[in-house]
Amino acid sequence: MATVFEMIISGDIPSVKLYEDDRVLVILDINPAVKGHALVISKTAYPNFTDCPADTLAHMMEIAQRVDRKMRQALGCDGTNILINNGPASGQEIPHLHIHVIPRYENDGQSLGFTKTKYEGDEISKMGERLAL
Ligand code: AMP
Repeated sequence: MATVFEMIISGDIPSVKLYEDDRVLVILDINPAVKGHALVISKTAYPNFTDCPADTLAHMMEIAQRVDRKMRQALGCDGTNILINNGPASGQEIPHLHIHVIPRYENDGQSLGFTKTKYEGDEISKMGERLAL
């Protein structure tokens, strides 16, 4: 079944478009975390970050950076969150790769909602060994 983003790309569902090229579409998120929240969507329906070719990711990040710079200039935001939810366990609702670019202001009252944990003893060095590339 086509994702909502495929239907937006095909024009079957309306969207507010900020940018388009042969590989990506940038639209406003319909339920913004902060007004101006944009989505950089891969035109190819890769389900997630993990399975997307690196050159496509690089292009998407380049466009996300342009969106960030435009937000700073046009909205005067103080910062942005650039994030990808990767898989249902991470909160990804739409299985079609997209990068969120969220404008942020000092004291805007918004939060990403993470609570932090702590490592005990040598747990952090063992984790480093497991994850070393
Ligand atoms: P994620 O949870 O990372 O998959 O994010 C999906 C995002 O798509 C959410 O922030 C939704 O608000 C947004 N979204 C869902 N439907 C639409 C739509 N029709 N137009 C624009 N954004 C949408």
